[in-house]
Amino acid sequence: MPPENPVVTAARPAVSAQPPTATRSLVEEFKEGLDAPICLTWELTYACNLSCVHCLSSSGRRDPRELSTEECFAVIDELERLQVFYVNIGGGEPMLRPDFFEILEYAAAHHVGVKFSTNGTFIDCAAAERLASMDYLDIQISIDGADADVNDAVRGEGSFAAARTAMDHLRDAGFGPFKISLVVTRHNVDQLDGFKAIADEYGAQLRVTRLRPSGRGVDSWEQLHPTQAQQRQLYHWLLDRPDVLTGDSFFHLSAFGESLPGLNLCGAGRVVCLIDPVGDVYACPFVIHDEFLAGNVRDEGNFTRVWRESDLFTSLREPGAEGACTSCGSYDACQGGCMASKFFVGLELTDPDPECVLGNAEPLLASLGASGGTVPVPSGDHSRPGVPVPSPVTLRPTRRRRH
Ligand code: SF4
Ligand code: SF4
Repeated sequence: MPPENPVVTAARPAVSAQPPTATRSLVEEFKEGLDAPICLTWELTYACNLSCVHCLSSSGRRDPRELSTEECFAVIDELERLQVFYVNIGGGEPMLRPDFFEILEYAAAHHVGVKFSTNGTFIDCAAAERLASMDYLDIQISIDGADADVNDAVRGEGSFAAARTAMDHLRDAGFGPFKISLVVTRHNVDQLDGFKAIADEYGAQLRVTRLRPSGRGVDSWEQLHPTQAQQRQLYHWLLDRPDVLTGDSFFHLSAFGESLPGLNLCGAGRVVCLIDPVGDVYACPFVIHDEFLAGNVRDEGNFTRVWRESDLFTSLREPGAEGACTSCGSYDACQGGCMASKFFVGLELTDPDPECVLGNAEPLLASLGASGGTVPVPSGDHSRPGVPVPSPVTLRPTRRRRH
């Protein structure tokens, strides 16, 4: 699940020793990190019935080391102590865990709200009614096309129909306004109005997020990420629709001119992090790689210690190193873009975003390609052997290397 920079209602004390002052903005405080994350993604399992071509966690098979039910409860206890008000639960397909409802109920009883992402396959009539009866719960159903052809080319045959059936069940059960989430690709950007119409049909909120070259997306990004012209088209579409949620994931597009709503901040390790199914804590859901692994919830001191004291998160909260972006006139709006996107295409973290709207990454990417450059390999591939990953286009020959 994509991270979502929050609309903050209550900032917790900064980890930094420097006290807030009237002259320091909220964004500056966020950059230095907070006592607890305000956008925590927790992937409950790597098991998934689908094999989406861009899956950020390369999910498919359950990992035998996944947290037990009791360990999940302990994480929730800790989040309650940290006053983490809600958590984004995802996977894999989280509803494949036999204890899924137990975990939801435990979180609600401990004042940790849950928003979970699902492909919808397992929301039948009974599940929808059970979900509708629960408190502190939000649901996000993923589709990547406004029709079966475009969606199923990325998410697999039958997945669009399954998602629509889940939406029908939630509506019939009176769940209320759930969310419909899509990842913008080259193939669905012309369908944005169609997605909005589907959301309106259900009284749902549309959430549009950015494709990153993470997980299986490392291999499909080059063919799926929007063109420069499509990025401009998306920017204007979003500017005209402030009611559409974005999780603040398009702040690199603000370099086109007027800033999109949001914090315009890479929150990795500052306000955002990921707990993966085996308890590993990464700086962001899109950087599942050893370089961004801060610790594990099973370590001494558990999640709290990882969040507050790990060397990685401490360093991410330091002022960034100088790079080409800091002298760019659009830096205040764009902040150099997304760390994960740079990393997994083989750029330095001080380089421009690979989708820099000024085209400043293109010479770097071309020289990487010309030199036969390679890209980092995400840690762990849980794809199911023998299960074909959908291929809407011919994927490029891989430039992967062990990193
Ligand atoms: S690396 Fe930063 S900008 Fe990119 S998805 Fe993660 S938190 Fe967002
Ligand atoms: S050069 Fe860097 S800061 Fe400027 S628009 Fe491109 S990515 Fe953003």
